Amino acid sequence: MTVETKLNFINGEWKASSGKTKESINPANTEEVVGILQNSTKEDLNIAIDAAKNSVKEWRKLSGIQRGEYLSKTAEVLEQRKEEIATTITKEMGKTLGEAKGEVGRAIAILKYYSNEGTQKVGEVIPSSDADAMLLTSRTPIGTVGIITPWNFPLAIPVWKIAPALIYGNTVVFKPATETGVTAALLVECFEEARLPAGVINFITGSGSVIGQGIAENSGINGVSFTGSNNVGMKIAEVVSSRNAKYQLEMGGNNPVIVLEDADLDLAAEQIINGAFLMTGQKCTATSRVIIENKVYDKLKEKLLNKVDNIKVGNGLNSDTWMGPLNNEIELNSVITNVKKVIKEGGKLLCGGNPISNGDYEKGFFFEPTIFENISEDMTIAKEEIFGPVVALMKVNSYEEAVDLANNTKYGLSASVFTKDITKMMTFIDEIDVGVVRVNSESAGVEFQAPFGGMKDSSSHSREQGKAAIEFYTSIKTILIKG
Ligand code: NAP
Ligand code: MG
Repeated sequence: MTVETKLNFINGEWKASSGKTKESINPANTEEVVGILQNSTKEDLNIAIDAAKNSVKEWRKLSGIQRGEYLSKTAEVLEQRKEEIATTITKEMGKTLGEAKGEVGRAIAILKYYSNEGTQKVGEVIPSSDADAMLLTSRTPIGTVGIITPWNFPLAIPVWKIAPALIYGNTVVFKPATETGVTAALLVECFEEARLPAGVINFITGSGSVIGQGIAENSGINGVSFTGSNNVGMKIAEVVSSRNAKYQLEMGGNNPVIVLEDADLDLAAEQIINGAFLMTGQKCTATSRVIIENKVYDKLKEKLLNKVDNIKVGNGLNSDTWMGPLNNEIELNSVITNVKKVIKEGGKLLCGGNPISNGDYEKGFFFEPTIFENISEDMTIAKEEIFGPVVALMKVNSYEEAVDLANNTKYGLSASVFTKDITKMMTFIDEIDVGVVRVNSESAGVEFQAPFGGMKDSSSHSREQGKAAIEFYTSIKTILIKG
């Protein structure tokens, strides 16, 4: 089978980079090349940014409804190509085909949602002190935005940034994670099939340090929306703020689940397993710490261990696979190193802890679902993000101790509590320092029509998705009209 080469998409045309190319490989079988990507240069990037800048004037002139039509057409194309794109996501990212189809469905829903935003209000009328004047606000696009995305949701994250950018009248320079650039190219093909005007979306693959950094530095980019690691995010913030442009960052987490003694333990066990191990633990909202009241600790632990026994790890394309591989070798090595560190620090391994490399697993980045106990709050696993199928059980004597422990991290993305006690639910909602609070449900879970983002070091304190997206992608003009 011939391997397809994906080019950059600049000013409405697919173009090869002046630089080299890079292979995208299948993490379940590293001998399979999913596609070949451009390893672009700064020169390519400058052309892409110019194209985006030159397209703002025409694009922002269209009505919101007209721009929305392009988004709904793109949703239709994505729907037609659903199977093909989901299969590519599984081959390139590693998640199961079920998870990949769910992601394509989500991307379609987001496009439809933002296409409708083209009909929603973009300002308000405020009483003026002058009886003869009208005072009002109007939202105006920020111009050209740079969109830098990670590999864990290679379709949905780009869409939840690109769709609002476009509907509010901005043009885009899109740099996807190198690990999942083929999936990103398929998304751009959908926009092309929907006949989005040339230059409105420009797609460029290449390394983070050249293309990502280049986007952050370039004065032609009016705002950067980034999802990824804290190290990279903070660097982007520094560069972008030094030239007084806008930025928005979604970064890591170390998300706690609290299980109180009155909880439905079967429900809690099911939701914890889903939160910790679906997508091989590679969601930013995945469950990392399970904080359990003493009285139900042993019972819950037993339920969790029984469930882990039934997890089938494998190639995401196989219908019986529940958990796919890690996305890449660096992630696999990082999980291996972190697990060793937890053991060295005194954590007790209850199950898993090893890469899987026998037989069919030989050529992939597989790792066992892993549960630790005897974890104290100063250990690495209780503080840092381990982006993989690793979760820590921690025992506490009261709700108060549980919430203090839950908050004792620099992150503040998501958290959940399992209890039937309405007072404790309400207190938890009030006391937990995270952007996504869940009650009797897993820590992971995002709805496109609601705001999403973290507190503390998990984000730039901005919110994405739903109506909240308008804040980043527009500026407010305050207008006074006298007749
Ligand atoms: P990453 O290494 O930070 O990469 C994210 C993106 O930034 C990629 O496109 C990457 O390009 C680019 N990049 C790398 N170095 C850069 C630089 N110096 N300047 C500008 N851009 C640069 O993160 P990842 O490994 O893809 O993803 C895993 C992380 O994302 C985890 O920490 C996870 O928690 C976080 N995450 C957060 C959320 C959320 O919403 N809060 C959602 C998903 C993931 P290359 O691919 O070419 O390196
Ligand atoms: Mg990376």
